[in-house]
Amino acid sequence: HARIEGRKLCDDLLSLFSEPFMIGTRVAAIGCSIGPAVSKGGDIDGEELLRRADMAMYEAKENGRGRYMAYEPYMDTRREEKNQLEADLKYAIEHDEISVVFQPVVNTLTRRISGVEALARWNRAGYGPVSPDVFIAAAESSGLIDQLGLAVLQKACHAATEWPHVKLAVNVSPVQFRNPFFAAQVLSILEEHDIPPARVMLEMTEGYFIHHPERAGTAIEKLKQIGVSIALDDFGSGFASIGYLRRFGFNRMKIDKSLVVALDEGGRSLEMLTATVALARSLGIPVTAEGIETEDQAAILQLCGCDELQGYLFAKPMPADEVTTMLAQQETPVRQLKVS
Ligand code: C2E
Ligand code: CA
Ligand code: CA
Repeated sequence: HARIEGRKLCDDLLSLFSEPFMIGTRVAAIGCSIGPAVSKGGDIDGEELLRRADMAMYEAKENGRGRYMAYEPYMDTRREEKNQLEADLKYAIEHDEISVVFQPVVNTLTRRISGVEALARWNRAGYGPVSPDVFIAAAESSGLIDQLGLAVLQKACHAATEWPHVKLAVNVSPVQFRNPFFAAQVLSILEEHDIPPARVMLEMTEGYFIHHPERAGTAIEKLKQIGVSIALDDFGSGFASIGYLRRFGFNRMKIDKSLVVALDEGGRSLEMLTATVALARSLGIPVTAEGIETEDQAAILQLCGCDELQGYLFAKPMPADEVTTMLAQQETPVRQLKVS
C-alpha cells in the first residue's frame, strides 16, 4: 500500500514540475528527477536511506531525467563497478598503459594511404580489451579525458615522425574543448615532435557545437590559428546539419558508417548520401567516408564524390610498426597488393 502511495506522490510531483513556472514576467521550465528509497519496518537508518535515495535519483537522471526510479541493490553494484573502472583507467593512464593504433585512410582514386587515424586502446589488467566507446565515456565523466587525450596525441605524434608524408588524424573529445589551454597544449606537443601543424587533423563530434556554439566557435578559431585542421566526425549520426560545416569552418567532413551501412537497406539512403556529399563539396569541404567494408560501398562512395575512404576493406586499425610496413609496400596501390 505504501508503495502505491509512494508512486502516486512521485507522479504528482513530476506532473507538477512538468508545467513551466512564471517568475515575474519570465517563464522558467524546470524539471525534476526523483529517487525514492524504502525502509521496510524502519530497519534501515536515516543516513543509509538518504544515501540510497540519492543514488536512485542519479539513476533517474542518467536514465533521461523527469522520472522516478526506486532504489534497487543493483544500483550499488553498478556504481562500484563504475568506480573500479575509473580507478583502473586512472592507473592505466598514469602508468602509460593506454596504447594507440592507427587506421589507414586511403585516397579514393589511387587507393594509396594518404593519412592515418589514431585510435586509443586499453587492455585492462584482469579483464582484457575495453571498447573505446566505454573507456572514453568513462574518462569524460571522471575528468580523465584531458590527460588521456594528450597522451594519445603524444603517442600519435611520436609514431607519425616515421611517416613524414602521411596526414595524422586524432580524435578530440568535446570535453577537451572546455580546457582554455587546449590549443596551446596541442601546439607544444606538435613542436616537441617536429610535426608541422598542417599535417594534423583533429576530429570532433557534433555534441559540443550544438550545445555551446559560441564557445565551440572560439575553441575552433584558436586551433585553426595554430594551423591544424578540424574535421566534423560521425556526420549523419546525430543532429549536425550542413550549416554547421560552414558556420564553424570545418576543413573536412567524415560521413558516419551508419549511413554507409544504410546503403544495403535501400530506401532513399543513396539519394541522401549523394545529396549530403554534394552539398559539402559545394561548400568546398572534402568528404571522407568511413566504415567501408565492401568494394560495392567503395564504388558508391567514390561516385558520390568522397575523396578519401576508410574501413576494413582497406585496413583495420593496426600498431605503428605495421603501418610502417604497409607504407613501405605501398609502391604499388593497396588493391593490387591484395591480388598479388
Ligand atoms: P570513430 O572516431 O568514429 O572511429 C572509427 C571507429 O570505427 C573505430 O572504432 C574503428 O575501429 C571502427 N572502424 C573502422 N573501420 C571500420 C569498418 O570498416 N567497419 C566497422 N564496423 N568499424 C570500423 P574504435 O576504435 O572502437 O573507436 C570507437 C570510437 O571511440 C571512435 O569512433 C572515437 O569516437 C572514440 N575514440 C577512439 N580513440 C579515441 C581517442 O583517442 N580520443 C577520443 N576522444 N575518442 C576516441
Ligand atoms: Ca574519428
Ligand atoms: Ca567516425
